[in-house]
Amino acid sequence: MSEVIQFVSTRRKSPPVDFKTALIAGIAPDGGLYLPSGYPQIPYSTIRSSDYPLFAADILSRWITDDIGRESLADICKDAFDFDIRLIPLSGRNWSDCYVLELFHGPTLSFKDFGARFMARAMGSLIESDGRRITILVATSGDTGSAVADAFSGLKGIGVILLYPKDQVSSIQERQLTVKRTGVTACRVDGSFDDCQQLVKSAFEAGSASPMSLSSGNSMNIGRLLPQSVYYAWATQMLDDRPSFCVPSGNLGNITGGALAVRSGLVVNRIIAAHNANSFFPEFLIDDATPRRESVRTLSSAMDVGAPSNLERLTSLFSPEELRRLFTGISISDRETTETIKRVSDETGYLADPHTAVALEGIQRMRKEQRLNGPVVALSTAHPAKFSDTVQMATGRNPAASAKLSSLKDMTTAVVDIPATQSALRSILDESK
Ligand SMILES: *Cc1c(COP(=O)(O)O)cnc(C)c1O
Repeated sequence: MSEVIQFVSTRRKSPPVDFKTALIAGIAPDGGLYLPSGYPQIPYSTIRSSDYPLFAADILSRWITDDIGRESLADICKDAFDFDIRLIPLSGRNWSDCYVLELFHGPTLSFKDFGARFMARAMGSLIESDGRRITILVATSGDTGSAVADAFSGLKGIGVILLYPKDQVSSIQERQLTVKRTGVTACRVDGSFDDCQQLVKSAFEAGSASPMSLSSGNSMNIGRLLPQSVYYAWATQMLDDRPSFCVPSGNLGNITGGALAVRSGLVVNRIIAAHNANSFFPEFLIDDATPRRESVRTLSSAMDVGAPSNLERLTSLFSPEELRRLFTGISISDRETTETIKRVSDETGYLADPHTAVALEGIQRMRKEQRLNGPVVALSTAHPAKFSDTVQMATGRNPAASAKLSSLKDMTTAVVDIPATQSALRSILDESK
C-alpha cells in the first residue's frame, strides 16, 4: 500500500490534517498554507493514457490517499475535466519545438476551471454526508471568481461570495463574474486585487471563532493546486524530450502545481515564471530580500499581483538554491505583450491572449539569451476571446467568439458594491448565513 499523505501548514504551527480537513479549511489555523506531508514518488513515465480524466485520477490518487476512494476520484475527474485540453505545436522559423498547452476550453475559458471544478466536486462529495453548510470566499482578479462561482453554483450546502476589484477586470470578465447564479454573491470592491485578497485573509483570521464554516476558493486551497500539477505530466508524456514550461504567472498557483509535479518525480528541464510588470517573483529569485509591493495594472490583468500568496509554498517546497536551479523569472511589459500577440499571429497564425503572450515572449527572450534548450511548452491560460479588445488592437483580427461568451449577453446580472473594509465584508457574510 502507498503511504497515507497528510497535509501540513507551511508555518508548522498547526497539526497535520487529512485531505478533507485541508480542503474545507482552505487555510491552516496558524495562517499558513497546506502542503502534502510527504511527496509520493509517482512513476510518471509509466502513466500513459489518452483519456485525460483517467490520467488525472491515476495521479491524484497518489496524493489523495484516504478520504476519497479511487472510484469516486475517477468519477469526480470525469465530471470535472469534461472539456478539451490541447497541445498545439507552433509553426514558423522562430517557433520550432515550441508548443502551446491550451488550458482554456472549460466553461469559463481560463485554466482556473481545472482547479475550481475539481475542488468543487471533491468538496461536494466530502460534505454530502455531513449535512453542513459552507461558504466559499474568493478574491479574484478576474478569472478565479467566475471559475469558482461556475463550479460551485447549485451545489447543495455550499454558497459562494466573490470579491473583485472595481474597474480592474475586463467587461467580459465582469459579465462572467456577475451573471446571476444560485448561491453566489458577487461583490465589487472599491480597491485593488491585493485589497480583496487581504479582506479574505482577515475574514479567515477573524472567522475561527464564528460558527460559520468558511473556506477559500483561492489557490491558497490545496484542492485547487493538486489538479494543476496533472497537465504538466500530461504534456510531458506527449513529448519525446523532457520539456521546459513557461507559465504566465501572478499568484504563483499554476507554477506551484508544476512544483508539486517535480517534487513527486516529474522530470522537466526548467520552469519559467513569466510575469507582467508585477515582477516581484523574478526579482525575488535574484534577491530574496526583495520587498513585496503594491500591484500595478497591466493588460494581462489576471496576473496583476504584487504579493503572490503561493510564494510561501514554493519556499517550503524548495531551498533557495533548488528554487534558482528549477525556476527562472521573467518580466514582460505591456508593449512587449501586444507586440508579441501581433508577431505570433503574423509568424505562426496563432492568436494568443495577453497572458499567453507574456509566456511566449518569455520563451523568445530566454532563447535569445541562449538560456533555454529543447522543447518548451507555454501554458495558455485564457481564451483570446476573453480579451478580444487587446487582441484586436494588437492584430486587427477578431478572435472567434465563443458560444460560452455569447450566451452571457442574455443573462441577468447582480452585484453588490462594497468598500474595501472588513466590516463591509462581515455584513455580507452575516447575510449569507
Ligand atoms: C489566474 C491567471 C493567471 C495567473 O495564475 P497564478 O496561478 O495566479 O500564477 C494567468 N493567466 C490567467 C488567464 C489567469 O486567470
